[in-house]
Amino acid sequence: MSSKVRTRFAPSPTGFLHLGGARTALFNWLFTRQNGGSLILRIEDTDEKRNTEEAFQAIYEGLAWMGIDWDEGHQKGGDYGPYNQSQRTALYQKWFDKLQADGRVYEDDRAWRFRFDRKPVTVSDLVCGETTIDYANEEINPDMTIRRPDGSFTFHFVNVVDDVEMEITHVIRGEDHLMNTPKHIQLYEAFGVKPPIFAHIPLILNDSGKKMSKRDEGAAVKDYLAMGFLPEAMTNFVALLGWNPKNDEEILSVEELISKFNLNQINRAPAKFDLTKALWMNQQYLGKLSADQFLKAVRPSLEQANIPTENSTLPRAVAAVQEKVSSLNEVADMISFLYKDDFPYDNDALAKVRKNESAPALLAALKDAWSITENWDEAKAVIGETAKANDAKMGQLMFPTRVALSGLGGGLDLGEMIAILGKEQCVARLKRFSAIS
Ligand code: GLU
Repeated sequence: MSSKVRTRFAPSPTGFLHLGGARTALFNWLFTRQNGGSLILRIEDTDEKRNTEEAFQAIYEGLAWMGIDWDEGHQKGGDYGPYNQSQRTALYQKWFDKLQADGRVYEDDRAWRFRFDRKPVTVSDLVCGETTIDYANEEINPDMTIRRPDGSFTFHFVNVVDDVEMEITHVIRGEDHLMNTPKHIQLYEAFGVKPPIFAHIPLILNDSGKKMSKRDEGAAVKDYLAMGFLPEAMTNFVALLGWNPKNDEEILSVEELISKFNLNQINRAPAKFDLTKALWMNQQYLGKLSADQFLKAVRPSLEQANIPTENSTLPRAVAAVQEKVSSLNEVADMISFLYKDDFPYDNDALAKVRKNESAPALLAALKDAWSITENWDEAKAVIGETAKANDAKMGQLMFPTRVALSGLGGGLDLGEMIAILGKEQCVARLKRFSAIS
């Protein structure tokens, strides 16, 4: 007989949803969806200073953006509420009273301590294996405070009461809580309740091999939205932080993640965060979108960059860079020159053109040739012909032309650039360039 899986994601509102939190939420979600269970969103908001509406919203929005939904909690309700710890004091009092009636708590300097059983306690963790803490020595493991002098209850106590009251079957959370778990097991035993199954998931390390911190690049989920990530790519790469399907597959749809995810296969070793890899994954997802989907996804960032999105050449310009970019934001950088007459010239590209002594004369010849080119489809071929007529190699004129038209040393395909700009713009840009170079 198997009882229904009940899991929870229990963030403390810190102002933003960080990568580790998103990963904990995702692992809980994948496991729960795989098992047809219920995921509870419980807000651990006992630290009143941090309980701002914005801090709550950051959690809801971050999860929603990643496509992680929950079954009980904010906006869902449920039979085990309220789902914010700040509203659950009566339940904490109830379990406190039980401990008091059983003689398991005592007052000490106006705080209340929970009397540990003086014996070894072992957690059997699905990921980390067994961890034992021996409570025999009171000096080393003094009885823990569960209620402060102001009457409020401490993290360990409310966390366990909530997991008991909400009938949580699997506690999936960060490894930083592993060493707390024997304390929690002591509470379960005192409550007379069977502990849930525990799975503590490994730390995430940053580029320099240190525990990822709030200040690291890529630490906040909202940064990925700002960077131009697709949520599907984000979900895929976060799922691989500490888990993999035991083959070389890296691109996995949400459905595949749900079917392949396995709590028992989470790595014991820390997960390494690699922004380059995340961007690579995003590039794979961007490349798979249809031209229309890509255009739609990129539109907000183009608007932000003041690119006229109603321009009829835009679909072609956007399609020309789809395969090249690893984030949506790069698109604006790559195509904005098309829609700006006074675009800037990249210093390195300019220096490179200036080293080529024949460039001014070649560009002047191209300007003349383009001025009388009637069929603009031939414009690119005219570059080669002009170079040849002036005893130069095609490359000697191609690069200066690219810089003159775009201000950039790379990016958009030259043929596409010429076609999108059209004759008038191309000639005008060669003129503008001859004035500065
Ligand atoms: N509020 C705790 C945290 O954010 C939750 C710990 C747990 O999942 O049990 O770390």
